[in-house]
Amino acid sequence: MKPLVTMVTSKKKAVKKKAAKKVLKPSTKKVGLKKPPFKEAAPILETIDLLRRYYPDAHCALNFTNPYELLVATALSAQTTDERVNMVTPALFNQYGSPQRMAKAKVEDIESLIRSTNFYKNKAKNLKSAAIDLVEKHNSEVPQNIESLVELAGVGRKTANVVLGNAFGIPSGIVVDTHVARLSYRLGWVDTDKPVVIEEELCKEVPQEDWVILSHYLISHGRAICKARKPDCAHCFLEETCPKRGV
Ligand code: SF4
Repeated sequence: MKPLVTMVTSKKKAVKKKAAKKVLKPSTKKVGLKKPPFKEAAPILETIDLLRRYYPDAHCALNFTNPYELLVATALSAQTTDERVNMVTPALFNQYGSPQRMAKAKVEDIESLIRSTNFYKNKAKNLKSAAIDLVEKHNSEVPQNIESLVELAGVGRKTANVVLGNAFGIPSGIVVDTHVARLSYRLGWVDTDKPVVIEEELCKEVPQEDWVILSHYLISHGRAICKARKPDCAHCFLEETCPKRGV
């Protein structure tokens, strides 16, 4: 007969082996991600009313005097701050402030005027190409519909929405930039960071008359308080109702 200690040890080893086998066996169950216990999002329209009260002067931060200038300024603002764009556009508009003049410009000359913006080489090429299209296909006018605008070089849905909303007063959609995307998530309005989906979701909830101004409210709040790295929740007027997702 084996001694008692040896029997217990071998039993323990057998249990351990069994447990190890169990752990290593691949699971066929689907494992869902646990959601953090966020607060419920406050009704979106109530939050918009608070933003409206707090930022009564919210507006497009790019300087422009006509639709073509806004189209150019918005195209330049990709990966570049509005302040930087406002620094380069006076000289640019002075020389090439119309599609006809931009279409005739040398790409290198455009480059030299916008060199301090990111991706200036691509932007210069696109500005010239878009200007040629405006002259040849649109009678040198900026089209007032999203389909024609997004066909221009360097013009995506965001730029088209900015131009239609701010130069023509046409609420064609909601501009979703980095601030709008970040705040929409933190405020619990959307569950995604994809701009196209965010725009779709917001358009379902927000009355069309607020589509244009909503972006300006969120951009103002994102710059002043709900900053990307350090949101100042302690001094935020939305603190009581904001679920602060991801913060
Ligand atoms: S600063 Fe904080 S409380 Fe205010 S909106 Fe951003 S995450 Fe919410």
